[in-house]
Amino acid sequence: MMRSMTVIGSLNMDIVNRVEKAPLPGQTIKAIETSYIPGGKGANQAVAAARAGAKVEMIGAVGVDAYGEILLENLRSSGVGTGGVLVKQDISTGLAFITVDGLGENRIIISPGANGALDPKDIDEAGKLLDEPDLIILQNEIPYPTLAYVFEYFAAKGKYIIYNPAPAFVPPENIYHMVNLLILNETEAAVLTGVKTESIEEVHSAGKILVAQGCREIIVTLGAKGLFYMSSEGTTMYQPAFKVKALDTTAAGDTFVGAYAAAIAEGKPLQAALHFASAASALTVTRKGAQTSIPQRAEINAFLA
Ligand code: ATP
Repeated sequence: MMRSMTVIGSLNMDIVNRVEKAPLPGQTIKAIETSYIPGGKGANQAVAAARAGAKVEMIGAVGVDAYGEILLENLRSSGVGTGGVLVKQDISTGLAFITVDGLGENRIIISPGANGALDPKDIDEAGKLLDEPDLIILQNEIPYPTLAYVFEYFAAKGKYIIYNPAPAFVPPENIYHMVNLLILNETEAAVLTGVKTESIEEVHSAGKILVAQGCREIIVTLGAKGLFYMSSEGTTMYQPAFKVKALDTTAAGDTFVGAYAAAIAEGKPLQAALHFASAASALTVTRKGAQTSIPQRAEINAFLA
C-alpha cells in the first residue's frame, strides 16, 4: 500500500548570481547572469518525493509577494499539495542569495522571512486542513521551538519521522529518540557527534553515537563516494554512488531524502530504496539549480534500467 507523507519545512526563492570573482568588502561588481530558482530544503524534498511518485503535502509559510506565488505554483505543478502552506502578512517569502564564482565556489546568505515565522500554532492550523500522513519529513530551516513541537506531536501519534538535520546544529535536548530515520551528510554527522567523519571507520563511529542517542536508522550521504547505512538492529552497509559527470551538486542531498521517502512509502526494500534514491540524486548533480534539477520518476527508472 502507498503511504502518504507531509514535509514540514522551508520554501525559498534562490536568487543566484554567477560572477567571475566574488566582490571584496566595499567592492561593486556586475553579475554575468542572474537566475531565480525555487529552493528551500523543505520544498526541495517535497518536490523530490512527489516527482519520484509519492503522495506529498507540504506545511510551511510564504509571504504575500510574487516569490511566494511562484514557489506555490512550482510545488503544485510538481504534484505537491499546498493546502498546508500558509501565506503570512507583513513578512516576505524566504530568500537565498547565492553567489557562484568562476571556480564554482558558493557564498550563500539566507533571509528566512516567512520560514522563520512558522510557529506551533501555524502547525496546528495547517494540520487541520490536511489528512493525517503516515510519514513526516523534517529539516532545520524552521525555528527550533516549532521543530520540537512537530517532533512531540507526531511522535506521540506514532508517525514514521524522517529527519534531515540540515543546516546542522546540536539540539538543546535529545530529539533523536523520536527519529525513525536520520539522513545527513558527513559534515552534519561531524557537527552532531563531535567526531571526525573523513573515513568510513569514522563515519561508522559517528553512526554508533547517533544510534545510541535513539535513532533507529541512519543514512550518512558521502557525496560522490556514495552512502553509509546503519540500523539500531545492527545492520551496516556501504553503497557506492553512481558514476556521473557532476555539474552542480545543489539539492543532491534534498533529492536523496525525497526520493528515499518515496521509495519506502511504496514498500521498496532497503537495498532497492537506497539504489533508487542514489540514482535520483546522481541525476540531480548532472543539472543546474535546486528544484530545476530534481528528476521525475520515469527518468530515475530509465537511469536504473
Ligand atoms: P547538497 O548539500 O549539495 O544538496 P549533501 O551534502 O546534503 O548535498 P551529498 O552527500 O553531497 O549530500 O549527496 C547526496 C547523495 O547524492 C549522495 O549520497 C550520492 O548518492 C549523490 N551524489 C552527490 N554527489 C554525487 C556525484 N558527484 N556523483 C554521483 N552521485 C552524487
